[in-house]
Amino acid sequence: MQKSEQLYEGKAKKVFKTDDPEVYIVDYKDDATAFDGLKKGTIVGKGVVNNRMSNLLFQMLEKKGIPTHFVKELSERETAVKKVSIVPLEVIVRNIAAGSFSKRFGVEEGTVLKCPTLEFCLKDDDLHDPMINEYHILALGLASKEDLETITDMTFRVNDALKEFFLSIGIELVDFKLEFGRTTDGKIILADEISPDTCRLWDSKTHEKLDKDRFRRDLGGVEDAYHEVMRRIGLEK
Ligand code: UDP
Repeated sequence: MQKSEQLYEGKAKKVFKTDDPEVYIVDYKDDATAFDGLKKGTIVGKGVVNNRMSNLLFQMLEKKGIPTHFVKELSERETAVKKVSIVPLEVIVRNIAAGSFSKRFGVEEGTVLKCPTLEFCLKDDDLHDPMINEYHILALGLASKEDLETITDMTFRVNDALKEFFLSIGIELVDFKLEFGRTTDGKIILADEISPDTCRLWDSKTHEKLDKDRFRRDLGGVEDAYHEVMRRIGLEK
């Protein structure tokens, strides 16, 4: 499969067309941003970690009946994916309070929630990805009621599968963000990535942070944390 015209360059990935109109290639970069792009940096090797980890998790989720955009891993940083138009929502699931949830509701980070929560944010950097509710989404025509039901149902199933998987390798899945896309024939499938950039992952015993919060909060050991997750997943020695 050959890369042709570059379609888009985002903060962490480039997307290319291919000779197949229904297939794109994503190319993961080491660039890291936080706080709406105010903080910029490089996490050496992150592109490889995020690409390979996302692909492993997407293949696991496919086996559990979740449709994803994954087609084929082409190299350490490149993957062929199904062409979708991204639903402009960030779908955030939380099992344990952290980050913006802790700030907004005054709940201490690390508080285990009585049940998993889901929130939608509008994907719009200029507006700083504001939280948006289901009525707003319908009113703005961003997704149909049926699409939202599909997304919500798939998201909680993804949470169950990921929580179980991470627990088995000594990691607590605190929260994470998903994105969904619509295929040419109108099907909603899981897209984007699942990685330490998009999940909060804490060591089950020590609660050490093994994710992008090490970069956001200048905790040091950023690369080591990404590699530790890869090691536990079995993708690195
Ligand atoms: N997240 C993400 N991209 C975003 C915003 C959030 O991947 O643009 C992920 C983030 O890594 C965390 C979860 O979604 O795992 C919840 O993030 P939160 O709302 O707490 O935001 P933050 O504290 O990062 O501002």
